[in-house]
Amino acid sequence: MVYDDVANRKDVSVIMEKRDEILIKDLSVKFGENVVFSDFSLSLPVRKITCILGPSGSGKTTLLKALAGLIPADGFSAPRASFIFQDHRLLPHLTALDNLAVVLDGKREDRRLRAKQMLDDMELSEAADLYPHELSGGMAQRVAIARGLLFDADLLLMDEPFKGLDLALQERLIRYFVKHWEESRRTAVFVTHSILEAILVADKIVVMGKGAHGAEILYEKDFDLPRSARALGVPEVDALRSEIHDLLVSL
Ligand code: ADP
Ligand code: MG
Repeated sequence: MVYDDVANRKDVSVIMEKRDEILIKDLSVKFGENVVFSDFSLSLPVRKITCILGPSGSGKTTLLKALAGLIPADGFSAPRASFIFQDHRLLPHLTALDNLAVVLDGKREDRRLRAKQMLDDMELSEAADLYPHELSGGMAQRVAIARGLLFDADLLLMDEPFKGLDLALQERLIRYFVKHWEESRRTAVFVTHSILEAILVADKIVVMGKGAHGAEILYEKDFDLPRSARALGVPEVDALRSEIHDLLVSL
């Protein structure tokens, strides 16, 4: 994978792994004069899904990068992370199937079998033997999501994975993602612009904003309504949705 950035870093940050949480404490990141984080703290529950919402430029991607160890932090050796980036970052010389098989361990035939199964689950059966340049943008994106879900890492970081996909597909993939996640229950941090998406999947919802001195947490909520009970029209869901909506449009 290609890691661009990180320019003009002058940060002292601490990310701690505890039994029940990954604690980000006093995270400071700046790019030149641009202070993105200054003494920023956030707790991420372990083996749960935290969804992060917030306007563009508030530091969501940078936060994921810090968690992945792409921006070094003191006292934190980043766990093996599976990072689903905003762009697909597939290996151009491998077919979709092999882009998945390459992240798996084991015998070649077994890896290809598991990769094939995942492509089928993601409605990508027809893409198996195609190369990235032969895929539509949405298909390449789904292959990248499939790869991220397959890669066996303690921490799953997703940066707006379903952005731009049509609504019906988005909904099916979210349900599939939750089903898949429930089998492994690894710590997941999921950045999205969709309030509904966040409400359907999150154990914890965080809204970040851009303050004068870097990113701020504007809203933080543990949401423990069972996922199977979450749908539009459910009073708790609708109330939460309008609460977060009102907050986001006021920024
Ligand atoms: P978000 O994902 O919430 O849209 P980002 O984390 O991508 O926000 O960016 C936060 C801020 O950091 C923005 O002002 C952006 O311009 C800046 N930034 C991010 N990455 C870099 C970089 N590699 N070099 C310089 N500035 C950066
Ligand atoms: Mg971003």
